[in-house]
Amino acid sequence: MKNIQIIFNAVLSKNIIEYILIDKNFTVVSSSEDVHKYLENKLNVGDDILFVLPEFVGAEDNIRKIFSEPKLSYVVESVYKNNYYVNMSVEYYDEKIALILLHNITDTTLSQQKLLQYSNESILLNTTLQKILNSQNALLFVTNKDEITYVNEQFMEYFSVKKVSELKSKDLKLYTYLDSGLKDYDALFERVNSKEEYVIIDDDTFILQASCIESTHRLFTLTKVTKLTKDMQIDSLTGVYKKSYFNSHLERLIKKKKEGVLVVLDIDDFKKVNDTYGHQVGDKILKEFATLIQNNVRGDDLFARWGGEEFLLLLENTNIENAMIKVEQLRRLVDTRTFKNVGHMTASFGLAKKEESDDVHSLLFCADKALYEAKDAGKNRIKFKKI
Ligand code: GH3
Ligand code: MG
Ligand code: MG
Repeated sequence: MKNIQIIFNAVLSKNIIEYILIDKNFTVVSSSEDVHKYLENKLNVGDDILFVLPEFVGAEDNIRKIFSEPKLSYVVESVYKNNYYVNMSVEYYDEKIALILLHNITDTTLSQQKLLQYSNESILLNTTLQKILNSQNALLFVTNKDEITYVNEQFMEYFSVKKVSELKSKDLKLYTYLDSGLKDYDALFERVNSKEEYVIIDDDTFILQASCIESTHRLFTLTKVTKLTKDMQIDSLTGVYKKSYFNSHLERLIKKKKEGVLVVLDIDDFKKVNDTYGHQVGDKILKEFATLIQNNVRGDDLFARWGGEEFLLLLENTNIENAMIKVEQLRRLVDTRTFKNVGHMTASFGLAKKEESDDVHSLLFCADKALYEAKDAGKNRIKFKKI
């Protein structure tokens, strides 16, 4: 992974690569706009490349070979021109044209420069890069603000596109899959950075990870969750889903514009349990509470641990009236149970109804506010809050 980041750094940095196309006679066919930055003189179509880039004199045979070998064979020269350190390479383009790449490595740190030179990867060309990306199992994509600029084969296959440019018309805003409140991939990066989140796309669950490849570009990987990794979605103490998994489902509900009610559950005076009976008993109560709720909701109601002694319940396709009845049943269930070691326990419940325009944050905020009101009103009760 680290290598990929260095490679991306090199390839995607702004204005870091300029190109010149030459034909078999070493004549310039075209070039990128700013290539003259690295040259003594302005470059014109028809110029002799050996005259423009004297560094290539002696490499003619190598360059000729490139025309006959559509493999990745390249010549690398490191030159210092106009205050720039530039690495040059030649790459096969087609049987008539070769591609000269000038890679500005002036701002690359010394160790990176060394790595780039020694590994002979100073110019990581699209094909090379693509090969590396394609060798990954995950769906991989590179972004710049709200745009996807690079993807691997697996990604294209999954989203049924043949080119990155086709993604534009698909309007695939992957950042909204995690949280509909996010406005671009930079915001997604801030959310995901250095941890992992679960995202649901169609009916597949993915682990989403992100890394920064340079100041403007982000690299994201989507790794499909298989049975093996399903364990990672379960809270080890209580055996119910983790918050991250729950969040991804909540996003899906919101995207689908379905009816639903979000419930925040909080055990009352739980601190006292810990203080009186110790942390271990506290842990057992958490598990007993979680199991009790889990066993008394429908299979398609999603229940998860939010953290500490707080839990979340998502009642999909349920109106608020039915949700109130259901949650009141749960409240009574807790209130009438004799918990092991501890005996009587109660819990408070905050409900929020999903409205058309809600995002995850406002829905959670609303349910949490309702919970606060339930606590304020004396605990062991349920409250519903409208936005
Ligand atoms: P309230 O009725 O207002 O909800 O009061 P409370 O005591 O339940 O809530 P508070 O948020 O003050 O305290 C929650 C306690 O839950 C504090 C913390 O030690 C305990 N707790 C959080 N996570 C765990 C855990 O994993 N195991 C155990 N045993 N205790 C936990
Ligand atoms: Mg609490
Ligand atoms: Mg509590």
